[in-house]
Order: sequence, then C-alpha cells, then structure tokens
Amino acid sequence: MGKTGVSAVWHDSNESWEFRELPLPKLESDAIQVKVEATSVCGSDLHIWRGDGIDTKKHPRDPFVFGHEMMGTVASMGNKVTTDSLRRPLKEGDRIAFSYFFPCAKCYNCIRGEFGACKFRLGRKPLDEWPVCNGGFAQYYYLRSPHYIFKLPEEISNASAAPINCALAQVYDALHLGGVMMGDNIVIQGAGGLGVNATAVANELGASKIIVIDGQKPRLDLAIQCGATDIIDMNEYDTAQSRIDRVMELTNGIGADKVVEVVGFPKVVEEGVDMVRMRGTYLEIGNIMPGSYASLDMAKFITNQIRFYGIQHYDPWIIPNSIDFLLRTKDKYPLMDVISHEFPLKDIDKAFKTAEWLGTQDGSKVTRAIVTPNA
Ligand SMILES: [Zn+2]
Ligand SMILES: [Zn+2]
Repeated sequence: MGKTGVSAVWHDSNESWEFRELPLPKLESDAIQVKVEATSVCGSDLHIWRGDGIDTKKHPRDPFVFGHEMMGTVASMGNKVTTDSLRRPLKEGDRIAFSYFFPCAKCYNCIRGEFGACKFRLGRKPLDEWPVCNGGFAQYYYLRSPHYIFKLPEEISNASAAPINCALAQVYDALHLGGVMMGDNIVIQGAGGLGVNATAVANELGASKIIVIDGQKPRLDLAIQCGATDIIDMNEYDTAQSRIDRVMELTNGIGADKVVEVVGFPKVVEEGVDMVRMRGTYLEIGNIMPGSYASLDMAKFITNQIRFYGIQHYDPWIIPNSIDFLLRTKDKYPLMDVISHEFPLKDIDKAFKTAEWLGTQDGSKVTRAIVTPNA
C-alpha cells in the first residue's frame, strides 16, 4: 500500500522528460502489477515524441507517460490470478510478455473474438486518472483484467523479449491477415524493428522473394541476416520511381504479392501501392499518427484490384506463437540481437536522441534501443 514507482513523464510544452514518483494503483483481485524490466523505443514512440501530425495551433498535449513495447516480471498479482493465459502456474518474479491493450470482452467486436479490434480497449490516460501506470517508460505497469500474459522461457533475455508484443506480434498478425504463403514475393518497406521481424516471419512462412527497402546500412545488413533475398538501398535508389522500377525488375514486371509498410510516413504508401501486383495486397502498419494524408489515385486500386489492409493490434494467440517463433529460430535469425543500445530510465532523453534517425545525416546506428526502468 502506498507504493510508488518512477515514471518518465513527457512534456510537449518544453519538449522534456520529467521523472515523477507516481502512486501505484490499488491491486484488483484479477489484475497484475508488472515491474517493467525492458521497454523498447519503437518507431511509434518516435512519432509520439516528435509530435508528428500534432496540430501545433492546438494546446500541447497534457504531460503523459508512454511506451508500449515491453516485458517485465510479476511484481504482485491479485488473489484471483494463479496462472498465465495458457493456464501455466504463475508466481511473483516470473518473467512475462503481455499485450499492451486491454479488450473489454463485452462489445460487438469482442464477442466475435476480435479482441484486437475492441473499440473500448484502454488507451493512454491522464496522469491523475486510474490506473496511472499505463506506459512502459516507467518502473511499473498495471495489467487490468482482461489481460493476456505469457511466461517467457529462460533462453529469451529481457532485452530480446521487449519487442515481442509490438515489433514481432504486430507483423506476425499482419502477415497472417494478409495471407502470406509459400512462394509469395514480398516487399517490406522499412527495416527497423518491425521490418526485420517481418522479414524473418515472411521467410518462415515460405515467401520466395523478400525485398527489403531502407536507407540505413546496419538495418539492411540485419534484414539480409533475417532472410531478405534482395535489398533496395535508398542511397542507391534515391527516387520513388527508381525503387518501384527495381521491384518490378526483381519480380519479372509483375509486382509483389504483398507489400508491407513499416516506415510510418504517408509518402511511403504512395510509393508502395505501385509495387503491388495486380490483385495483390498492401499491408499498412506504420502510419499511426492522425493527419497522415497520402495522395492516392483510387482508380489505381480498382484497376489493379489492390487489397488494402490497415492493421493495428492483434488477437492474444499471436503472443505465445511469437515467443515460440523467437525460440525456435534463435540460431537461424539474429532477432535476439536486434536490440543494439540499452539505457537506464534516467537516460531516456539520450535513448530517444540516439534512436532518432529522421533529419540526421547518416540515420541512426540504432536497430532498437531499450530502456531498463528498474536497472
Ligand atoms: Zn510499437
Ligand atoms: Zn470490446
């Protein structure tokens, strides 16, 4: 009781972090208090941090805590919780992966089993509102019910486990939804955390060609190690048309069966839809910020019969499958080594500045940075 934890609170007004001791919520009987061991700086976090798409004429956002790509240990659990979501015994101190959104389990979509599409899943809350601890750049994170939690095997380190619930689970879900199958030619736009995971997953699903596009050498190297058959280096192919032409060349003028967008800028979509084959599929994941307008000729979607999916969040089964995938392929792909930089919570400003690639001369050396709030 009366326990507190340190959270890194972001202030738009002066673009700075503040470390604030916040009270932990009173533990409900079906909830879990997680001690956060590792939280990655995801591309989405960089969007939020930069304020991409935010209307500068409006008031700055209230100070808030964010961070979603994380793992932790069970700090305490309500008396109704005895197992993880696969009914394996759970105790304090166990390391767990979990989804960072909480479906309500009683709405139109939830009763259809579409938990990732629950309109009432908990979003970010103001600092003084329950449950307070709902961001990953903090010492504690509160898992209200219904939560989906999965014990982690020892072989997966804390750093390697952090990206499971976003970078890996999100692309796994997208490729599943998009029906990626043996023999497909895939284009992956962006070789950040999501892109390299998507590359490995596409390879496991039996894709034929996996063409990865990025402008940063370390990321492209990692993509090759994760199964990319071809890379398109944006320093070499420096116009959208040259990249589209290259994809066409690599696919005998047909285009890709599936194109996956994990960069998060609207222009990338304009370019990517021209890489899709007739009746192919475009999987849009990256553009999470409001105001991400792209200029697209709708006739192209009709004429080329393009299937377009917008993807955010996933259903719970994706997480244990992702854990199994990571474990099973640990000697095949360097996904466990995607984390390149580690920072204590007090250095979160440095973590973000090091991870930032936009507007820098050579991009960032970071493939994924993590913050360790309890180190
Ligand atoms: Zn993310
Ligand atoms: Zn719901």
